[in-house]
Amino acid sequence: MMNDLTLIDSASVAMPEPFVGRHLIDGAWTDSAETFQRHSPAHGTLVSTSAKGGVTETEAAIAAARRAFDTSGWAETSGKYRATLLLKVADLIDARREEIAVMEVLESGKPISQSRAEIEGAADLWRYAASLARTIHGDSHNSLGPDMLGVVLRDPIGVVSMITPWNFPFLIVSQKLPFALAAGCTAVVKPSEMTPSTTVMLGEMLIEAGLPKGVVNIVLGFGDPVGALMSAHDSVDMVSFTGSTGVGKRIAAAASGTLKKLSFELGGKNPQVIFPDADLDAAADAITFGIYFNAGECCNSGSRIIVHEDVAEALTNKIVALSRKVPFGDPLHPDTQVGAIISPEHQAKIAGYVRDAQSGGAKVALGGQALTLDGLPGQFYGPTVVTGVTPDMPIARDEVFGPVLAVLTFRDFDEAIQLANGATYGLSAGVWSTNMHTCLQFARKVQAGTVWTNTWMDGFPEMPFGGVKQSGQGRELGRYGLEEFTELKTLTMRVTPGRDNWVKG
Ligand code: NAD
Repeated sequence: MMNDLTLIDSASVAMPEPFVGRHLIDGAWTDSAETFQRHSPAHGTLVSTSAKGGVTETEAAIAAARRAFDTSGWAETSGKYRATLLLKVADLIDARREEIAVMEVLESGKPISQSRAEIEGAADLWRYAASLARTIHGDSHNSLGPDMLGVVLRDPIGVVSMITPWNFPFLIVSQKLPFALAAGCTAVVKPSEMTPSTTVMLGEMLIEAGLPKGVVNIVLGFGDPVGALMSAHDSVDMVSFTGSTGVGKRIAAAASGTLKKLSFELGGKNPQVIFPDADLDAAADAITFGIYFNAGECCNSGSRIIVHEDVAEALTNKIVALSRKVPFGDPLHPDTQVGAIISPEHQAKIAGYVRDAQSGGAKVALGGQALTLDGLPGQFYGPTVVTGVTPDMPIARDEVFGPVLAVLTFRDFDEAIQLANGATYGLSAGVWSTNMHTCLQFARKVQAGTVWTNTWMDGFPEMPFGGVKQSGQGRELGRYGLEEFTELKTLTMRVTPGRDNWVKG
């Protein structure tokens, strides 16, 4: 223990050679004149050098995906064929799990234990999507009259642009790509410029599995110009985006010229409401997990707790005590549960929210400071609990995206709902009570895509995920996640010959 916190020493792990990332365009690995680099946010070492794509590479990737969709026959392949390919990819992910997990740690700063679990979960998503590939079906209607038959087909939507963030790079591309491929779509993928390399590794596995050229193309680079062109281009039928609400709005504006389909997984300011009859020990543990998982750099971060005033002090004390025990430090160390912050700029933003809350009268019950760790030149931020937060404070409304918990209190059910629904976001919410009626009432009234009851952040490939309000539109995962990449086509057929003539005589 140091600084009253649990800090983990540097791990003595040999660093891999810096990764060299290239675009994957029409089945070929492609360089650009310019490159960009990523250094480990924990260790400061060079992790990867990537080709820096521009308009030329993006145009070429979109053209390849368009050709593959329109003329290669991919969209008409059987579900069995596509499922077999997806299963091969899942096996390849398993085989390279450690290599991918280490790269995620080095580019994002997340702990290795969580990174390994993320890659295992990603392989499971490829397997789950493979199972869905063989179940795509529409509908038929024999109630249209004696001589008519109606058939509703589910067609692949076409070319999909996929733009992903840095916080769960491999998992998030795996929430999109296998589902789109299962549906028969083709894709252009742009990973975050902070974490490009594991998506390139995925491209290597797609080729090894035998995916036809052009079906998946990867362009490395920045939001402008790569992501912007992928959003605006008239050869793209859909944009599937995960990232911030601000960038989501920019993508919607860029896509408006072509009215393409948009699927958005955006930010959150997720409330957990704790009623006085809740199991406070269970709640404190889940709240601690919910705020420090991935250093709070998580769309599902339970960053706002709204606790009944009768139990607020008892619960806060338990959370603070647990927070001191959460192991912070070198993300390569197997015992670490909270690693580095993605960038110095982001660390400064987190610190700014805490300072602002303090100046507005809130109290810092724990933390509130950047951490300096021996042997690690990167940026860390200590576990932080802020009490006395009021709904008007930016720390209560904005996505801080750091290990910072804001504690608000309520007096009755209506006030709890009003506070929970008071944010512009609506990604997920939680309720803690031993009274099931209270939980159900809350679940019905809260504005959120996901509601956890006496638990936090359990996720399953079978269950849809997404947000309401400014947290997104559309759903990923489950059957819904596959259907998102399809379009309905209505076939109306005359069974008997001889239609009544419209023109008489
Ligand atoms: P971001 O919005 O800054 O960037 C996401 C991606 O968009 C990156 O690849 C970036 O290069 C690209 N981009 C930037 N400007 C663009 C533009 N004008 N046009 C097209 N693309 C552009 O997000 P981030 O900082 O990488 O990730 C953190 C955010 O992602 C948080 O808000 C978090 O809540 C959200 N997120 C949401 C979910 C979810 O499922 N709802 C999951 C993970 C992360």
